[in-house]
Amino acid sequence: MPELPEVESLTHFLRERAVGHTILAVDVVGFQALKTFDPPATALGGLTITGVARHGKFLDLDCDGLHLVIHLARAGWLRWRDDLSGAKPVRPGKGPLAVRVRLAPDDDGQAPGFELTEAGTQKRLAVYVTRNPDEVPGIAALGPDPLDPSFTVAALKRIVGGNRTQIKGLLRDQKIIAGIGNAYSDEVLHAARMSPFKIAATLTDTQIADLHEAIVTTLGEAVERAHGLAAKDLKAEKKSGLRVHNRAGQPCDVCGDTIREVSFADSSLQYCPTCQTGGKPLADRRLSRLLK
Ligand SMILES: [Zn+2]
Repeated sequence: MPELPEVESLTHFLRERAVGHTILAVDVVGFQALKTFDPPATALGGLTITGVARHGKFLDLDCDGLHLVIHLARAGWLRWRDDLSGAKPVRPGKGPLAVRVRLAPDDDGQAPGFELTEAGTQKRLAVYVTRNPDEVPGIAALGPDPLDPSFTVAALKRIVGGNRTQIKGLLRDQKIIAGIGNAYSDEVLHAARMSPFKIAATLTDTQIADLHEAIVTTLGEAVERAHGLAAKDLKAEKKSGLRVHNRAGQPCDVCGDTIREVSFADSSLQYCPTCQTGGKPLADRRLSRLLK
């Protein structure tokens, strides 16, 4: 799932490749992906892409004042195509293609563009056409962006203060902090040497400062690594940069202990016991049930 660093990188990528180009057409194939009906997607035809911005995990293409807003969700991806002029017309069907954005041909006759695809059967990729991106419900509800200068230790202290939720859940909640998902919350907590089940309100001032440092550094470094990469190379880069997420059974880079996992109904978290939980494995209810 693309999180803040990958979406930030896609934002830069599209700024370089797509800004200044006129949209020929936006072909919506996966109709469930389009969450707005007025203005219609056809209204984007003929408009020029003038800017690209990121809001949390949302991509926002400004097209002469009309915005194409994209949320890639869990299994969605953006694929840049250098030349779509020979591409077959899209037909609604069972394939992964949800939306194709075709741009006007450049001087050498190539018509670039990009495609939004979504793997799997759960269709969560969301596309909005709106005059005001702040009207997209997920954007309107976003918490502060952790890469924004206003995200200070004091700001984080206000966020965690009195919050009785587990820190892992808090970090993933887009309404509390924008842009962090399952992978980077694992990474942040490993860097902060903190148990994912710790209750936010119990953090000391030192722990809040450590957590802040871990958030800013982990995301900042991931953005740095992803910067300048082509869209197609981002997934591999994300995977290779992760130190605990999806690495259960492998040794921790920091201490050599074996990385462990806690499974939930539709997700799992990974952590290092020595670095994060005083050497004690966290209870994995699903696993302990199986062992009984
Ligand atoms: Zn460790």
